[in-house]
Amino acid sequence: MKNLLSFFLVSLCLNTCQCSVVVIGAGPAGIAAAAHLVDHGVNDVTVLEAENRIGGRINTIPFGDGVVDLGAEFCHGEVGNTVYELAAPLNLLDSDTPGFELHYSANGLAVDHTFQEKLLNLTHSIVHKKGENNQEGDACKGTDKAKECLDRLFEILVKSAEMKELQLLNQSYPWLGNYKCASESCLDLSELSLHSDYEECPGDQMLSFSSGGYRNVLDLLMRNHQQNPLKIDVRLQSKVAKISHWNNGSSISITLQNGTNLSAKQVIFTPSLGVLKKHYKSMFHPSLPEQYQSAIEAIGYGTMTKIALLFEDTWWNKEHPKILSCFFSAKHVLLSTKNNLTWIQSFTGLTTVQDNPKVLMSWFVGKESPRIEDLTPEEVLKGLNFIVTYCFKPSFPKLTLPKKFVRSQWRNNHNFLGTYSYESVRGDSRTGRLNLGEAIKNEEGVPVLLFAGEATNSVNFATVHGAIDSGRKVAERVVTSRSQEKKEED
Ligand SMILES: Cc1cc2nc3c(=O)[nH]c(=O)nc-3n(C[C@H](O)[C@H](O)[C@H](O)COP(=O)(O)OP(=O)(O)OC[C@H]3O[C@@H](n4cnc5c(N)ncnc54)[C@H](O)[C@@H]3O)c2cc1C
Repeated sequence: MKNLLSFFLVSLCLNTCQCSVVVIGAGPAGIAAAAHLVDHGVNDVTVLEAENRIGGRINTIPFGDGVVDLGAEFCHGEVGNTVYELAAPLNLLDSDTPGFELHYSANGLAVDHTFQEKLLNLTHSIVHKKGENNQEGDACKGTDKAKECLDRLFEILVKSAEMKELQLLNQSYPWLGNYKCASESCLDLSELSLHSDYEECPGDQMLSFSSGGYRNVLDLLMRNHQQNPLKIDVRLQSKVAKISHWNNGSSISITLQNGTNLSAKQVIFTPSLGVLKKHYKSMFHPSLPEQYQSAIEAIGYGTMTKIALLFEDTWWNKEHPKILSCFFSAKHVLLSTKNNLTWIQSFTGLTTVQDNPKVLMSWFVGKESPRIEDLTPEEVLKGLNFIVTYCFKPSFPKLTLPKKFVRSQWRNNHNFLGTYSYESVRGDSRTGRLNLGEAIKNEEGVPVLLFAGEATNSVNFATVHGAIDSGRKVAERVVTSRSQEKKEED
């Protein structure tokens, strides 16, 4: 009888639990927020996570002789970077910035170094700055579109090119667009704005974890390396479908997809901008205030696909690793189209993987990249073989075809619907991010619904450190509101 009663009470609690703070999403923003709350004495915190794992867009999986990261892989910068601050004291990061080598599929050889530099300089000249572009004279004056800027700079390059360079230059054009999109995850450069408030943390931009991949950051946030690991109530496979009465003040209702109901005094919402874009109209009751809706619409959210390739043996230069990239000749563009392999034209590069010597990570960016997630394994392998054979085999005679691969599925996964946010030409992303980062308060001025996550960070969006900072920032608002409430009670 006693057992039956406690079963009943537990079920009742799971179905109607009154929590103090509910954090939605156990990615870096959600975990950082929950940890900050617990560290500051807010103990009744529940984290609801749709997936059956924590980490969100940090997803380290075993592959080859080690692990690969299908999501975040690099720590971008050192000074003022939370990931660096967590990992560097434990010597978890390696600074081994690779060189760059651009190949041309017509002969499979690396292009002339001066030509490569010209192309790289061009992409670097498409600078994101608030106000006017200040590089390359005034070429991009008066436009806020990255694509228009690329076209103008490209025209200048074509005009100054020697006859023998022209064919090569023209065939490199699609690659230029994809390469520029690679760091932004835009599907099409015409969607990317030139205006951005992203602030690079000074230092090495491509630090990787010496072993264990980005999963290390989750362990650091959960303090798994320490004697007293963080204890937070994370409920996996708990997908939130509806958030009601968020304007009610004392009790916000949260309904999970499986019908479970919870209520909370304060909610921190961290799922991706992709999830928000798709569901904000149906998920929030009443509807979100206008400035939140327009913020969600204004900020860009893109995708890319990563495919890790396992080879029989290393065929690239281990001592001096290089990012190996390639653009396709007209003949190979035609051949790939004939063979139903147009998606290979979104290939942007191969990078080595730390502590995993027989694995290379390949990156696919641009319009064709989402299709990769739906291809059969045979189709993927056929395309990968095409790339390595025509782009690299002539330069690396020892090259063998990949024997196994694993690919990301960020676009298809309903809990992400893409990779990360970017500055879109469709609206003012800066104002959007600032608005989204503002807490929604109830009539008493208490913050009740708070958005966090990479897309809400106006200066470090699209990164893990930006996500962590955003989570801590909103958690601090909750902590402050609690202490104010307490003072008023006393
Ligand atoms: C391919 C790729 C490469 C990247 N490379 C880098 C890199 O090298 N360096 C870097 O710093 N950053 C990189 N990033 C970006 C970085 O991964 C993200 O900015 C960061 O992880 C975002 O964290 P977040 O907590 O904001 O969101 P997420 O990590 O997306 O966490 C949100 C969580 O909410 C959950 N969720 C969604 N919907 C619901 C729901 N309805 N109910 C409950 N839970 C829900 C999701 O499952 C997820 O776990 C990369 C991202 C990708 C995808």
